[in-house]
Amino acid sequence: MKFMADKKGTLYLCATPIGNLGDISSRCLEILESVDVIAAEDTRRTLQLLNHFGITKALTSYHEHNKKSKGDYIINLLLEGKNVAQVSDAGTPAISDPGEDLVRLAIENGIEVTSIPGPVAGINALILSGLPTSRYAFEGFLSTNKRNRYEHLKSVQKDTHTLIFYEAPHKLLSTLKDMKQYFGGERKIALARELTKLHEEILRTTLDGALEYYAEKSPRGEYVLIVEGASEVATDEECFWQDLSVTEHVDHYIDGGIQQKDAIKKVAQDRGIPKREVYNEYHNI
Ligand code: SAM
Repeated sequence: MKFMADKKGTLYLCATPIGNLGDISSRCLEILESVDVIAAEDTRRTLQLLNHFGITKALTSYHEHNKKSKGDYIINLLLEGKNVAQVSDAGTPAISDPGEDLVRLAIENGIEVTSIPGPVAGINALILSGLPTSRYAFEGFLSTNKRNRYEHLKSVQKDTHTLIFYEAPHKLLSTLKDMKQYFGGERKIALARELTKLHEEILRTTLDGALEYYAEKSPRGEYVLIVEGASEVATDEECFWQDLSVTEHVDHYIDGGIQQKDAIKKVAQDRGIPKREVYNEYHNI
């Protein structure tokens, strides 16, 4: 049975810098000083942040792997009247970070939730991209599972919103290749790297251009990929294959009486990707 205080605590969602410590807000520091407990995604990293600003505070971990049990624990603290600040590794909690679940739990328990706004890597990259910002869709990370990844890309292939993706450096190349397969090599992309840090870099190019650039350079640091939305003028004729997977695309030509080898060649031409890639995808290699 949960102990209920006369007054429940408040859950503060505190945005922290995504690289430059100068981006912390004075309100965020005040809240971190004033709460009873800080729920941190990575307690070591948050401790460094707190040490930098001379704040001493009780920390508890709340991350992807303990969020179920820790979620209940934190909700109990809030029900007991304690104020809790939630911080993620970097940026705004609940944006591709654990936090979403805690917010939902808090709301279900009638706990007040408020936010101390600050940096979000995706929005920062979007405004620097030079691509349309009036309508955009946040897509977060692509799954590492191939099938889910392809389904995700396919689902936004015709989306006309500017698309925001997060990516880790070691997966950047394969992500660019997969994006080219679904969006075509001509689609514009801005790769925002190490935002707010010393080596901040924005590469504004196309998917072909990005692949060429990273053929000679190793991706380093944290990336946000801002991808141009699909063109509204693309006709069904030009893009009849956009809703098809690579395999369905090959089968479409085979069903039309074309030999498998030639069908693979045509698909590679349509999509602007190497024949080997189509072959491997078709044969599940
Ligand atoms: N909650 C964070 C936010 O508000 O943006 C995002 C957390 S998510 C786990 C981490 C991802 O955000 C990284 O893999 C990268 O894609 C992106 N990211 C975070 N900091 C970044 C930076 N300084 N420059 C570019 N991308 C960054």
